Amino acid sequence: MNVIMMGPPGAGKGTQAGRFASERGLPKISTGDILREAVKERNPTALEAKARMDRGELVDDATMIKIVTDRLARPDVRVGFVLDGFPRTVAQARALDELMQRLGSDPLIVVDVTVPEQELVRRLASRRICSACGTNADPVSAACGKCGGELVQRTDDDQGVVRERLKVYHQSTRPVLEYYRERPTFRVVNGAQAPERVAIELDSVIADAAAARR
Ligand code: AMP
Repeated sequence: MNVIMMGPPGAGKGTQAGRFASERGLPKISTGDILREAVKERNPTALEAKARMDRGELVDDATMIKIVTDRLARPDVRVGFVLDGFPRTVAQARALDELMQRLGSDPLIVVDVTVPEQELVRRLASRRICSACGTNADPVSAACGKCGGELVQRTDDDQGVVRERLKVYHQSTRPVLEYYRERPTFRVVNGAQAPERVAIELDSVIADAAAARR
């Protein structure tokens, strides 16, 4: 099963992608996590990308397409995958289609997690991640529930940067939804509900989309 989790920053797509992937034994591929990890390891390409990430801008398509092409070549992806944070431009979506065709993969299931803008801004302002393992944390916790690490705000969750990220989302990523919308495997989920409700709806629409694959 090849799933793409779409949605604006703060929609909860990373959390839902992680849960869905671990329940199904699928690798979760988050391009934001891959970039943040590469920055920690001081990888030269990633350090160049970091300046763009800190400003809330997108990293260039060629770099992102290479990251995802390399990742999808690994053997653990044979069972399928859940992609989180990619594609973010129509050029990336086209490159992914070409790659899937080359690999002879099953049709993509695309889920759009929608949340009103006001709620996104509120969520991003209070979001904290673990400085050690990168997991999204509950803002009221004192430490990471997974590894006990210190919780910090992502530099790009700063209010000014959030505004830029939402602008970039509307300009570059919303057109990707139009690129996918007419496919029989495209589904929408209401992300403004409690995470447990979102999870139930998500599981149901993915099952439905899987049945619609030809
Ligand atoms: P995320 O954790 O998905 O919000 O990603 C954090 C940042 O990494 C984004 O704001 C972008 O700067 C960069 N990034 C992640 N995925 C992509 C992508 N597919 N295309 C371009 N930039 C990306």
